[in-house]
Amino acid sequence: MFDLVTTKEHDESRQGEAFAPFEKDPNTYRKRFFIESYGCAMNFSDSEIVASILNGAGFGATRDAEAADLVLLNTCSIREKAEQTVRKRLTEFKKMKRRNPGLLVGVLGCMAERLKSKLLEEEKLVDLVVGPDAYRTLPNLIEEAETGQKAVNVLLSRDETYADISPVRLDSNGVTAFVSIMRGCNNMCSFCVVPFTRGRERSRDAASIVRECRELFEQGFKEVTLLGQNVDSYYFVSDADPRPVSFAMLLVMVAEISPLLRVRFSTSHPKDITDDVLHAINSHENICRYIHLPVQSGSTRILQLMNRTYTREWYKAKVDRIREIIPDCGISSDIIAGFCTESDADHQDTLEIMSYSRYDMSYMFFYSERPGTLAHRRYEDDIPESVKKRRLQEIVALQGKLSAMSNNGDVGKVFKVLIEGDSKKSGTDWKGRNSQNKMVVFPKEHGNYAIGDYAWVKITGHTQATLIGTAIGEPLN
Ligand code: SAM
Ligand code: SF4
Repeated sequence: MFDLVTTKEHDESRQGEAFAPFEKDPNTYRKRFFIESYGCAMNFSDSEIVASILNGAGFGATRDAEAADLVLLNTCSIREKAEQTVRKRLTEFKKMKRRNPGLLVGVLGCMAERLKSKLLEEEKLVDLVVGPDAYRTLPNLIEEAETGQKAVNVLLSRDETYADISPVRLDSNGVTAFVSIMRGCNNMCSFCVVPFTRGRERSRDAASIVRECRELFEQGFKEVTLLGQNVDSYYFVSDADPRPVSFAMLLVMVAEISPLLRVRFSTSHPKDITDDVLHAINSHENICRYIHLPVQSGSTRILQLMNRTYTREWYKAKVDRIREIIPDCGISSDIIAGFCTESDADHQDTLEIMSYSRYDMSYMFFYSERPGTLAHRRYEDDIPESVKKRRLQEIVALQGKLSAMSNNGDVGKVFKVLIEGDSKKSGTDWKGRNSQNKMVVFPKEHGNYAIGDYAWVKITGHTQATLIGTAIGEPLN
């Protein structure tokens, strides 16, 4: 129940979301594909690249799995529960395949990479297994699978970034979009499967990132989130220009497309976020004052076992530095309860660092051992599940208090909010986010606003996860 709590990175409400074909697509397609995405924003972004490749191969999207010739699941391996969800879904497609023997079923993403051809043997219904660096080969693999052969490509690449592929936007609100800036991860945190499923870190050509963001802005998008497992270690040198582009430089390049285009990024490894990045955020009003700074644990001993390369004191100093340079910065975190050998004292250190950091929000998990990781090979998963869950509950409860404190502190303040659409609960209210990434809801009646406008909103109250306010002044377009 507490495996995953609040999230944008792993948006719980979007897990298993089906690809929505864009309504005015003028093309006709010979076949239809259905794609469902699980896990992190990177996977959702990858599904948009897959959609683009499949369009080029004559496949149009459908939201109706029953109407599809090809069903794809873009999967996540980060915790055991994520894999169980996909396996359950695969058994549902097994039934569909019995009714429609011509249907092809494929597994993409991290589970494809982790389990490779085992998936073909175990889940007998799977026809295609394609890892995150092999999506360009999908059209050939589909042709192979259509002849009745099982098709697999799980080769990881040192240079694939899909830089030249224009993603087809997935179930877009037309206002906010993800833009992938790097792939893979070199960090080797001991609990994490990502370096094994997504391979070595590589940065995408800066010019292609700026081009994609500019095109999005020209299409009416007002916010881009630059995505990577560790965006602060972005580093690109082109053949044409020997001067390297750092993450701080990239942020500024994207921000300068237009002051009306907001820029966000996710995720930052605390060890790599430099003063340069903090000053870059301050230098442009449209670079959002929000940093996701996963701590994982507050205990130096556990951080060492996790191979996070910082101590609790170092992390606290980083939080201090962020608050010093960007006083109005929102900070959120990822926290893992019950990692190998974690004592009650270690757990208390985690609670203490949460209070110190005053996170606005956290993604909170209990430790789930992943086969093949360093922790799996080196340490025993020795904390009983009941203890993991109790500690996680304490972490969740504390985060609830910290979020309430943070939201209370916003009452009376005025924020610039980018309107994303109708509020979930009522068609008479707008919802949008402020620079600090907090959701803000306000009545439509004050002012003449539209989706994609910026509004000044005065905060009058809050619920657990949302600020509530009233629009003041005129729309800012
Ligand atoms: N690269 C990002 C970073 O370092 O912050 C996040 C990557 S991961 C997709 C998102 C979060 O999942 C991690 O920050 C961590 O808290 C959590 N996570 C990763 N492996 C886990 C595991 N084996 N058990 C529980 N949570 C895990
Ligand atoms: Fe996993 Fe650590 Fe890389 Fe994040 S930085 S993806 S937690 S190995």
